Amino acid sequence: MHKVAIVGRPNVGKSSLFNRLIGRREAVVADLPGVTRDVKDGLMLYENHRIVLMDTGGLWSGDEWEASIREKAEMAIEDALAVIFVLDPREGLTAADYEVADWLRRLGKPVIVVANKIDSPKHDVYLAELWGLGFGDPVGISAEHARGLDELMERVLQNLPPDDEDYPEVAPIRLSLIGRPNVGKSSLLNAIIGSERVIVSDVPGTTRDTVDVEWNYGGQRFVLVDTAGIRKRPDTAVEEYAIQRSETAITRSDVIWLVVNAGEIGDHELKLANLAYDSGKPVIVVVNKWDLVPDKELKATERFLDEKLAHISFAPRVYTSAVNDYGIHDMLAEAMKLYNKWQSRIATSELNRWLEIWQMRQRTPNFQGRSLKMLFMTQAETAPPTFVIFCNNDAFVTRAYENFLQNRIREDLELAGVPVRIVWRARG
Ligand code: GDP
Ligand code: GDP
Repeated sequence: MHKVAIVGRPNVGKSSLFNRLIGRREAVVADLPGVTRDVKDGLMLYENHRIVLMDTGGLWSGDEWEASIREKAEMAIEDALAVIFVLDPREGLTAADYEVADWLRRLGKPVIVVANKIDSPKHDVYLAELWGLGFGDPVGISAEHARGLDELMERVLQNLPPDDEDYPEVAPIRLSLIGRPNVGKSSLLNAIIGSERVIVSDVPGTTRDTVDVEWNYGGQRFVLVDTAGIRKRPDTAVEEYAIQRSETAITRSDVIWLVVNAGEIGDHELKLANLAYDSGKPVIVVVNKWDLVPDKELKATERFLDEKLAHISFAPRVYTSAVNDYGIHDMLAEAMKLYNKWQSRIATSELNRWLEIWQMRQRTPNFQGRSLKMLFMTQAETAPPTFVIFCNNDAFVTRAYENFLQNRIREDLELAGVPVRIVWRARG
């Protein structure tokens, strides 16, 4: 994997760019110089490329470019094949910028000059000054508003040798946000990807029927399906419409985020959760607008939710606030975790060990004096995990017993939150 370093003096937006490119938003970004420590690296996925990005921001101690920083920086970026040199031309170039430029020229690595904070075309005038650094055509970007990033990546790739490692294609995790209007679905979407580009117009006819949004997070690709449905709000039969729309989204997703507000949970939410679950997709209950719950009521609200959501207690819960980015990381981490479990395969030997112990511990249902005997178990499919259990007579299996067994499987075999299916086969 090729390495690319991000270099530049404090406050030009290096860590904002780093986070934007690797698709991570929770890292600290602040106005104070020197917030980031030392050198951070992260895996970036771009089209079919995998690049290790390094943010050298932590090496700076102040605004001065000193020999001690230079030495550390030289070591840190030794095996980088190209350098992204970030500047803030709206602030004007400083002596340190020119010193860094001289140093980079001596290193002899390809340098891509980046003018950050070009938030709109009216800032393009600031680009001219960067020609004077002697690295050619500067790329104008806005790390904050996700502008110019494709052009930047094109330039980076032009400066890298071909990457002939053969990477297996990583399937994206397909997600959808469902829930009643106004719970904060589009706000959460924006908080996750941190850009306004997904706001879909409310004007009828201007949106295509399905709009998918793709982003990277922690080395994983995500696709949010059917974002058009998030914004559309027909005047009549809102909930009925939401259900139809959600059904389509669920079919196209791997994992579902069911967004709720603590005070407004009703049949609609339970219906949606069951819809998702019955179609074999893991559901995460996202309790949004958590910032509106006063501190002293947090515990009581959690208890209230336990009660309200008792029928869908299989679904893990995360607490979020789209207005201050709280819990966004949890949403993504939980989705990754469930997705991996949903795709997992359990060895037949482990399943049969479990089945044997289980039957010793717990009585099976009785039917006119005869009881259910489970003989053998194997996993036939993943996504959702589907188990075949061979038994003496499948007529002995009650609905309640099957539910019970599903819960045990989830609990004992580390499949919490994942829908599991059981197929019964009678054998003699
Ligand atoms: P670093 O010290 O170079 O890593 O810079 P940071 O990424 O911490 O950013 C410094 C400041 O610039 C923060 O307040 C960011 O919000 C702000 N910033 C970063 N990128 C942009 C941008 O594209 N446009 C604007 N207007 N501000 C930005
Ligand atoms: P959607 O219809 O589910 O897509 O909901 P929106 O994202 O349009 O949000 C509806 C309203 O709730 C808007 O006024 C948002 O600003 C507000 N909102 C969304 N998320 C939060 C949150 O976490 N906290 C607070 N206080 N307000 C939020």
